[in-house]
Amino acid sequence: MFTAFLIKYAEIGIKGRNRYLFEDALVQQIKYALKKCEGQFAIHKTQGRIYVDAQTEFDFDEVVAHLKQVFGISGICPVVYVEDEGFDKLKDTIIQYIADVYPDCNQTFKVAARRARKNYPKDSMTINMDMGEAILKAYPDMKVDVHNPDIMLNIEIREKIYIYSEIIPGPGGMPVGTGGKAMLLLSGGIDSPVAGYMIAKRGVKIDAVYFHAPPYTSERAKQKVVDLARLVSRYTGPIYLHVINFTDIQLYIYEKCPHEELTIIMRRYMMRIAEHIAKENECLGLITGESIGQVASQTMSALVATNEVCELPVYRPLIGFDKQEIVEISEKIGTYETSIQPFEDCCTIFVAKHPVTKPNLNVIRRHEHNLDERIDELVQTALDTDEIIIVQ
Ligand code: ATP
Ligand code: MG
Repeated sequence: MFTAFLIKYAEIGIKGRNRYLFEDALVQQIKYALKKCEGQFAIHKTQGRIYVDAQTEFDFDEVVAHLKQVFGISGICPVVYVEDEGFDKLKDTIIQYIADVYPDCNQTFKVAARRARKNYPKDSMTINMDMGEAILKAYPDMKVDVHNPDIMLNIEIREKIYIYSEIIPGPGGMPVGTGGKAMLLLSGGIDSPVAGYMIAKRGVKIDAVYFHAPPYTSERAKQKVVDLARLVSRYTGPIYLHVINFTDIQLYIYEKCPHEELTIIMRRYMMRIAEHIAKENECLGLITGESIGQVASQTMSALVATNEVCELPVYRPLIGFDKQEIVEISEKIGTYETSIQPFEDCCTIFVAKHPVTKPNLNVIRRHEHNLDERIDELVQTALDTDEIIIVQ
């Protein structure tokens, strides 16, 4: 029965003179999301509103599910729109609408009419009263409640007449692309896809980098990361995923550095390489899934050590989250099932039995000098063999 959706947005409404940029970005993201749905849609902006009009048959649940993945949308209102064929016809339509959407016909309601087209013969107060009366007559069990109605029945008079009363919550946030771009360090775990989701929710476009260590990590582990990137891209739009072959660097660190410092030094090289690719691709920050104290490499001292090698800001949106809270988000956004597939993202030979939890920066720096002979060349080779997968 629904033929359109009114898209409500919250925060982008306060962007003053730049508001149109936010609205345009939102329209773009809605178009991207709906491309994956059956049917044809026209999206238009009018007077602080965005409408998605269906021009063909469509699957309601599918469209709602996709709109729920568009950051910047605070609410999705399914709309019935009809031609203006006089007030009596409109009454019939509304009576039918209530029967279809609220078959019990026993709720409280309020009619809220808006005239965007001022030449409509009744003003909004009169529409409210006349329509309220008609509803009460048709459904004696319904009652008017102007303060706290169960049903807020909105009637918008435009060229056509739009009727809606339901609001399905959207994901909130800002349209992707309005906040610049950042490079996500994406592993196969639970945390990093959630971290990417959270920063993208603030309007940031995402590129990603994955450090792969064949043959110690399998093709299947890499495929899992591609799958995760695909799940995240439902919200963010296409992701350029850089796959970096990290094997020789890891082996070299393993050969030259104390094993309890392996993870920290490895992570410092991941950050350096990620930053290099980030800068080449106009990214304004790095994103990781780190959370204080989760593992040895995420103590405050370890974070000092990994943070030190970067100039760009490192965004760690999960820094204060417990694992359980991260799991809940990952279930909500649909990455959890893939994240827990048992394809390790890091070979066990590279993980020390007793990794340092309080690395001393001076010691780490000194031990990194053990790598001086070949590390630049190895990093360069890793960068030169960057495999870019466009995930969408
Ligand atoms: P996750 O669940 O995201 O894998 P984790 O709890 O396993 O995180 P670590 O392995 O210490 O934590 O990694 C911390 C962060 O470093 C990850 O969240 C991710 O951003 C990044 N990272 C770790 N391994 C890789 C990798 N192989 N490729 C890209 N980024 C990685
Ligand atoms: Mg991990």
